Amino acid sequence: MSESSLSYVTHHADGPWQTYLSQVDRVVPYLGHLARWVETLKRPKRALIVDVPIELDDGRVAHFEGFRVQHNMSRGPGKGGVRYHPNVTLEEVMALAAWMSIKNAAVNLPYGGAKGGIRVDPKLLSIKELERMTRRYTSEIGIIIGPHQDIPAPDVNTNPQIMAWMMDTYSMNTGTTATGVVTGKPIHLGGSLGRVKATGRGVFVTGREAARRINLDLDGARVAVQGFGNVGAAAAELFAQAGAKIVAIQDHTGTIVNERGIDMAELMPTLTQYGGVGGFKGADKADDEAFWDVKCDILIPAALEGQVTVERAKRTTAKLVLEGANGPTLPAADDILADRGILVVPDVICNAGGVTVSYFEWVQDFSSFFWTEDEINLRLDKIMVGALKRIWDTADKHQITLRTATFAVACERILTAREERGLYP
Ligand code: NAD
Repeated sequence: MSESSLSYVTHHADGPWQTYLSQVDRVVPYLGHLARWVETLKRPKRALIVDVPIELDDGRVAHFEGFRVQHNMSRGPGKGGVRYHPNVTLEEVMALAAWMSIKNAAVNLPYGGAKGGIRVDPKLLSIKELERMTRRYTSEIGIIIGPHQDIPAPDVNTNPQIMAWMMDTYSMNTGTTATGVVTGKPIHLGGSLGRVKATGRGVFVTGREAARRINLDLDGARVAVQGFGNVGAAAAELFAQAGAKIVAIQDHTGTIVNERGIDMAELMPTLTQYGGVGGFKGADKADDEAFWDVKCDILIPAALEGQVTVERAKRTTAKLVLEGANGPTLPAADDILADRGILVVPDVICNAGGVTVSYFEWVQDFSSFFWTEDEINLRLDKIMVGALKRIWDTADKHQITLRTATFAVACERILTAREERGLYP
């Protein structure tokens, strides 16, 4: 495994940055003459750490650590979400930014890769505190974001309301109405129809294509989903509509199982009432670790990084793993899944539906002409199917996994741009 030569990175073998580096190492043999530029991919172009002080409702002042990392911008402005989570670190944001570079290039979107985050548990803040924190963070990173520089979007624990505050703060600071500075906005602020469910839809589209290739019938297929937020819930609903049975769901409130299939229409309205799936009465409760033993055909990790460990990869009965989350599978677990003949559609293509519709949103904002939801969904389907086909052909040609093939396609595009632009000065 590649050790980072960056002084500000600690060596944490199972950490997301090390996972990313080892994924890059695996692709080097397929890069030909472009391999001379590979070091570019092993360091972020720019990493900003900001202090985010806010006044709490009780008059005290709290400080939060905020980050915005621009990993690579050879192919276009930075693009990637903003995460609010108590475990956010610089290294995590670096890895997430790097995966955005790969993802955007894999789908051939004209973007580089970026990501942001604040180390905070947003559930402990009032709505006013959340707004103040978002606005101060946006001002602090305002020196490097912009509609042509770097365009944030939602990620874990951020949503259209937070994007609206970011857009408003940036607009106030620049004396503009800069709708194109963030994506994932509410519809009447220049948001795009179909954006909220786009990542889950992309997971479904790539899953549907992969299932077809391995002759797995979605009708009656058993699906287990970890993480039931923006990504997991939208994907589960689409799989259920295609006739699949959602046999297990896990989120931070618990694990629910029902081998006959969890009724999505019954479950969805209860989510706000219980804050997650844990309180749902229409399924049995299970131990969190038992989630990985549930008999299933398709496993969708759609929560956080590092969830599919070696141990869990050995136990899963899935034939197909669809990575809704970013970085859910550790490299050693990836090898076990491959050895066991379990097909993995990697994050860097599987969850690219969100950024694809974010790209549509950005294009619509610039042209001030908005598309119908059907147009969005059709274009999304077409782009995802085309991107996956190109990746699959690469995998077949070199006899490599879909992950390494996605990295091969993406790195070739990034490093070609790097080479053509040349080194400045
Ligand atoms: P979200 O905040 O909407 O949902 C996160 C879900 O994960 C929640 O259901 C939460 O309960 C669950 N979760 C958190 N900790 C957990 C734990 N320890 N065990 C089990 N479940 C846990 O976030 P999201 O936007 O759905 O993002 C989920 C993943 O998808 C992240 O890896 C994110 O980076 C990735 N992703 C999101 C988007 C997007 O458009 N939102 C796009 C691409 C990738």
